[in-house]
Amino acid sequence: MLEPLLFEVLLLLVSLALALLLPWLGLDPAPAVLLAILPYLGRNLYYLGHLTLLIRRRYRMAPPFPHGLWGVIYRSVAQHQQSGRKRRKRQVRFIRRFREAAISVPDALVILDRHRRIEWANPMAAELMNVHWPRDEGSYLTEILHHDLLGEFLVADEYLRSLELAPEHNRAITLSVRITPFGERKRQRLVVSRDITKVFHLNLIRRDFVANASHELRTPLTVISGFLENLMDSPRTPEHHRRPLQLMSSQAERMRSIVEDLLTLSRLEMEDAATQSEPVDVPETLRLILDEARLLDAGGHELTVDIAPDLLLQGNRLELRSALSNLVFNAIQHTPSESRIWITWREDEDGPLFAVKDNGEGIAREHVPRLTERFYRVDKARSRTSGGTGLGLAIVKHVLNRHDARLTIESEPGQGSTFTCRFPASTGLERSEHHPRDLPVPMPSS
Ligand code: ADP
Repeated sequence: MLEPLLFEVLLLLVSLALALLLPWLGLDPAPAVLLAILPYLGRNLYYLGHLTLLIRRRYRMAPPFPHGLWGVIYRSVAQHQQSGRKRRKRQVRFIRRFREAAISVPDALVILDRHRRIEWANPMAAELMNVHWPRDEGSYLTEILHHDLLGEFLVADEYLRSLELAPEHNRAITLSVRITPFGERKRQRLVVSRDITKVFHLNLIRRDFVANASHELRTPLTVISGFLENLMDSPRTPEHHRRPLQLMSSQAERMRSIVEDLLTLSRLEMEDAATQSEPVDVPETLRLILDEARLLDAGGHELTVDIAPDLLLQGNRLELRSALSNLVFNAIQHTPSESRIWITWREDEDGPLFAVKDNGEGIAREHVPRLTERFYRVDKARSRTSGGTGLGLAIVKHVLNRHDARLTIESEPGQGSTFTCRFPASTGLERSEHHPRDLPVPMPSS
């Protein structure tokens, strides 16, 4: 840096020396100064103009560079241009690779602009969703892919769930459609569709198999239970046969519970969630569940209840009853005698919530995420002896899913557990709106 500066100073000094020398040779001082300074100014003007031209026309700066400070400026601009070129090349390469990757993914990808119009789609989108790019650029996705819920799904802000549909152009396939907001202020949408035909069919086969097997087992089990009961009641049964008969009867009863729970799960999977939605009197349902719980509780648990008396819920009465009672009975079954249990039904700013908290032994962290799996039990032997089927929380999860609700489980070994069901705010109802309190609640006909 010092050398170019010295070079510029030297040029200036030479010009000044010339300005002093020329009057001494007989020239007038004013033209002498002008004559001496002019080459110096001309040089600066030339390089300034040249630099502007090079930059404006985006010419590539290449050596040889001028001497002095201008050389430093030219060199810096050249370096800057070079790094910019490298960056652009890298970007182009990256975009090309990204497009190649997007083209070769086996899923359909569609990018929608902020008005939900098609901006780009990969080739798989043509096969799976009938979206051909660039032909369909600018069209609305809902014009090509028809589904009752798709429009609603696209404008929603929360995309936790996927949508399963059979596209019109090929009814033989089943797609799982997921939507992710992205881009500036998350106004664009990335639609990803996967072909889940095989999984869907396997699931159907599994579901039908479980439903049919459970259904077929129901009658023989009822017959076996009936005969076992007759044998136990008969005075002619030898005394030493009674204990084995009792064991057989309790195991048959356990099998019957498992079959009933499996049938409940099958029904939950098969039926349309929207059917039989009505205002459910949750306080009344909880009163019945708690009466039953107090009656069956042999362990002297202490129940503390905090129930909003006028808070009802839009949903399926039988399903909700099954979910709530599973959580209450679990707290009784899976905690030691005389444990405390808190049952809450109230509404906060996020919507209605039902919680069952206990101060039992709690559940180790590694088990918590798996509790809603079918037949998953923390302590298998103890759960079996306490009459558990291992399907209760799977039923709870299914029921909540069908009500757009969420189950959260918090548990600390040695401290106890809290099972919380959070329902969407829109499903909470005031009693006065639907069941005036002074009117008797209609009893179901038998
Ligand atoms: P089960 O028929 O065994 O109760 P669930 O699906 O209802 O089946 O529960 C799964 C497992 O979760 C239970 O076996 C038990 O180990 C555990 N569990 C459920 N609720 C509680 C609770 N309140 N405290 C401790 N463990 C629990």
